[in-house]
This record gives sequence, C-alpha cells and structure tokens, in this order.
Amino acid sequence: MKIDIITGFDGSCPHFPQGVEKRGENSFWVRPGYRAKPGNSEEAPGCGSRLSLQINNGASSALPIELIVDWESDKRTLHHDLGYMRHAGADEWKMIPGMHDGQIVVHDLEIAPGITHFGLYPEYNYEECKKFVTSLAIDQDGFCRARACAMPSYGRVSCKSLFGTHPGLRPPLHGRGTQEITGQAVMIPSLEGYAKRGVGPQSAGKDFCKQLGHIFGRRAASGGPTKEKNYAKILNLPAGHGCNVRVIGQSRERRDLWQITLPSPNPKARTFFIQARDHAYETAGSYCVEGIVDFLRSENEIAIYLRSKFNVYIVPMTNPDGVFNGMSRLTWEQGADLNRVQTIPDPAHDALKRAIDTVKPAVHMNIHNWTDKFTDGLLANEGKIAERIMAFMQPDSAHYKRWMVETQEDWLKANKFTTVPEKSKSWKDYAKEQFNAVGVIFEFPWFGLNTAAMRAKGTRAFLALALAAIAERGL
Ligand SMILES: [Zn+2]
Repeated sequence: MKIDIITGFDGSCPHFPQGVEKRGENSFWVRPGYRAKPGNSEEAPGCGSRLSLQINNGASSALPIELIVDWESDKRTLHHDLGYMRHAGADEWKMIPGMHDGQIVVHDLEIAPGITHFGLYPEYNYEECKKFVTSLAIDQDGFCRARACAMPSYGRVSCKSLFGTHPGLRPPLHGRGTQEITGQAVMIPSLEGYAKRGVGPQSAGKDFCKQLGHIFGRRAASGGPTKEKNYAKILNLPAGHGCNVRVIGQSRERRDLWQITLPSPNPKARTFFIQARDHAYETAGSYCVEGIVDFLRSENEIAIYLRSKFNVYIVPMTNPDGVFNGMSRLTWEQGADLNRVQTIPDPAHDALKRAIDTVKPAVHMNIHNWTDKFTDGLLANEGKIAERIMAFMQPDSAHYKRWMVETQEDWLKANKFTTVPEKSKSWKDYAKEQFNAVGVIFEFPWFGLNTAAMRAKGTRAFLALALAAIAERGL
C-alpha cells in the first residue's frame, strides 16, 4: 500500500483506526467524531471540530488522494470547508479548500513522498507544548535552553520541576515581595539583539539592565535604602531568561500542566493571568501564547514597559488529556469543560483553579478559537475595556475578519439574568467576582491565517488588553 493514513499519535483525531476506512484507490472515508466511548457536548457525533491526521506516501513521487470527511451533521460544515496541510519537512502550514455537501467535506490533495500532516487547523499537541516550555527552562547545568541562547544562569531560576521531582501541587509564587522578585527578575535581550549590536551576551545583558534602570531609576533613587539596594541588585544581575516554568499539577491521565511565569522587576507590578487550550481543538491559543512569550522576552519597548507593570503567568495548555486524546472540547468523552468554573471533577480543573486563586489576577485573558471563519470574538467583562481593545486592535481585515463583541452586561440582558448562573460561569466571570479582574475571552478562528500570523495576532491581543487595562484602571 503506497498511501497510509496514520492515527493514534499525540493529538490525532480520529484517534483510532476505526475512524478511517479505505474506500478505493487512494480514497479514504474519515469520521472525526469517532470516539472510544459515547461522548457528551462536542464529543457527541456531529458536534465536534477536531480533525488531525498524518498521511504517509510510501511512493517516490507525489500522489493524488481523496479524503471524504464525514462530520455526521451539517451543523458546522459551513465552517469546515477548509483544511491545513504541512509536509513533515516544511515549517509552515498551508490552508487548502474542501468542498462541502451537507455533512460531508471532500479534500482532494496532492501528497508528496513521506509524511504529510493534515487537519482542520494547524496542529499543536501535548508534546509540542512540552517542547516549548522546556525550551524556556534552564537545564541542570545552569545553561539556558531557550532557542539559540547560551547564557549561563545567575538567578535562582530552576527547572527541576520540569525534569525531576516537581514541587507537588503547589503553584509557584512570585508574589510582590521584593526579596523574591530580586532573585527572579532575570531578563535578557534576545540573542538576535546581541548579534545586531555586535556585542557579547554579558555586555548586552548590562545594556538591557541600563534600560530597566532608565525606567526605574527615579523610583529607585527615591525609594529608600532597602528598595534602592534591591533595585540595584536587580539591575546588576548580569543574565537571566526573563521567565521560568513550573509544573502546577497533573491531569486525570497524569499529564503535566505547566505555568510559565514572566516576573516583573517592579515590586508593585499587578498580576496578569493567561490561559489557553481549555477546549482541545482550539490550537490558535497555543500559537498566540508562543507569540506573547517571545514578545515579552524581547527588547521591544512596549514589552519592557508592560513587564514593568505586570507579573505575567501563563498556563499554556489547561486540557492536556483532551488535546492528546483527540477530543474536541472536553478532557475525555464525558469529561470536564475547562472553560467552566463549575464542571465535573477533574484534576486538571483543580490545578487551574488553584493557579488562578494563587495568582489573584488583576487581568485575566483566556484564548480560544471558534470555527466562524469571518468573525473574531471579544467576550469582555466590561464594555469600556472592550472599546479600548478595539481601538488598540483594529478589525483584522487582512484576514477577512470583523469583531463580534459581547460584554457580560449584553449577555445578562440577552439571557434575562441579573447575575451569571454558576453553571454558565467562565474564568473571566470568576476572576471579576473574586478579584475584581479585567477579564476577556478572545476567539481567533484560523481561516486565512498561518501560524506566524496567529502568533502575531496573539501578541497584538495581549498588548491591546494590557494597555486597555492600564488605561481604564489606572494601573
Ligand atoms: Zn473554546
């Protein structure tokens, strides 16, 4: 057989060979809704939006293949008339059309020799997230493992939690205590930055510290001897990584939930909490997170400004079981909905709630991607914040999108409630109720974007929300 469809890998959907059937020479019938057990919510037949396969062409030249994708309902196929493809040797995903007719979408593909990834959206699965957070950590020898970075570690940053015993289920605390911040505030410019200026990492680090000194210099000078000492200590730290990663808990199937922390050198910085991948298929959130982390570790002047305002905490994949097992929304076929404060018991949900309760966010950002091709969603606790965000982030007409905005007030009116009922509460509602947080959910559908564009969009959204919160709340 020259063409094989591969299932069963991390994130594949259908996750089992029973979801694929050979119908003819290089023609395959695919049922993404195939589940090992009967499913609830979007795991029920015809309700999901996950599709992720690998196609192996064992021949020495390209071959045409036909994928007949049966979504078992026409409820969403209007938005499922596309796919994304990436040959194992290529860096970027390419969007391709599919022809829909009722519940069926047909993809006619030209498959090069070797492995080609194919899905409704670009993949981003558990192992990829692990690779990303590992790249941010520092190994046991004290060297940064970040991409292209060879800086020795001088701070108390450790990634033992990633490679060995993790600190139980206690989320990391990089609170407002100056002492703790002193040990953690280790920021460096990117290596590209050094290359451009033609200076070595050590002096580049000092350069960057000078910039921070510029921001905090006046306050340090007027802040009394203790503060001055601490600031001096921060500013003299020769190197660091600008972030650290801890395991904050494990899922039902014992996969890790990570938290990336980007500490601020400002002891009075507020807390900014970001979560992604509550819903397993919504891979946009993962690319947005990568964009945000890269931005915050860069020398961009707004990034440096925002790091002077916020300690940023990111849980990049709240639902690792759902992601791994090819679910659409839940943790397993009848599992928890990580986007709900109240759901069925699940250790991943417990870990997420504990992280939010520990961080006590002043700003809460939750990144999703619904399937509506032409509409970006902004679900906000407050209308004023939504208005600011839209002013800072114009409709993404380059990718054929308009904004759909819904405030909590709109939602209450439309549903004739005075308060959000427990069963409908998402984390932005919880963060508002518990911590008076500025809270927002973004929905960024893939249509027309590649992963580079999605990274940039996530960065833009973070920036717009952070500046909106600063402006509205006087942070
Ligand atoms: Zn979602």
